[in-house]
Amino acid sequence: MTEAIIPAQFGERRFLSWNELQREKHGGRVQKVSVDAGFTCPNRDGSKGIGGCTFCNNAGFTPSYLREEREITRQIETGLDFFTRRYPGTKHFVAYFQAYSNTYAGVDQLRAVYQAALAHPKIDGLVIGTRPDCVPDDVLDYLAKLSETKIVELELGIESCDDATLKRVNRGHDFAESEDAVRRAAARGLDVAAHIMFDLPGESRESMLAGAAKLSALPLTSLKFHQLQIIKGTQLANEWRRDPASLPLLSAEAYLELLVDFLERLSPTISIQRVGSEVPPSHKLAPEWNLRLHELLPRLEALLLERNTWQGRLYAGN
Ligand code: SF4
Repeated sequence: MTEAIIPAQFGERRFLSWNELQREKHGGRVQKVSVDAGFTCPNRDGSKGIGGCTFCNNAGFTPSYLREEREITRQIETGLDFFTRRYPGTKHFVAYFQAYSNTYAGVDQLRAVYQAALAHPKIDGLVIGTRPDCVPDDVLDYLAKLSETKIVELELGIESCDDATLKRVNRGHDFAESEDAVRRAAARGLDVAAHIMFDLPGESRESMLAGAAKLSALPLTSLKFHQLQIIKGTQLANEWRRDPASLPLLSAEAYLELLVDFLERLSPTISIQRVGSEVPPSHKLAPEWNLRLHELLPRLEALLLERNTWQGRLYAGN
């Protein structure tokens, strides 16, 4: 058996970095500016379900500078003001439609919303977060056309590759719908990112790791990893308050070990956008990690080095 080596395209890292690929592709940093366009979600308004996913309280992941802003251009101005001071010299800004399901409307309405963002002279493209069951072909056709002249990324909330887990958290779609959405979008040339959440209730370590092969089989451009956090105002918060032992949560150390195990099994061609998230402490009940978000990536890199491993080391290919 030939000895596995770290792929050259990783550069100095032990995984394929989305940030660095973006820098190479676009000649500099690409910064997302969050926009809340006022969409809702089919898993909340009754068309797919009511109550939403059991872990979701959208206030938990809406940036604070958006809360008082409703109008798209003003939201962009506020975000640009923040990021140009924080990251001077940023080359590109894209509008990040993050809250709820940002393709949950007809094409004409979507076009009006997206064009309002693209009309800003500093906005070079769009990142559109949505559910896998909310991307009909006509919407994908429109986004594919847009991507001929603008940066466009579709971000799909896959969350888990395990149907029993998706059911347990009232997700309202299964993994087959995720596979179908990724394939239809990628077939049109769109960059597709998947949002994955580790440690969902009832999901085993084996099942989470098995997801690496399932995701590797899809034409995904990148992955965003998130750890389960119990957020106030969610159904999970009620379950946790009733019986915290029913929702055992990973420690930071266990999460990082899991992430390394997952990366080892993941195709080296899928880039990594983020490795965790951080809900504001005022919104969060658990877990209590002695680690801030900005410390996660260096800790992950240190663990990959310590274990002398890298993304794809155990990837068997498709
Ligand atoms: S996580 Fe997304 S799909 Fe689930 S309820 Fe919240 S907004 Fe809807």
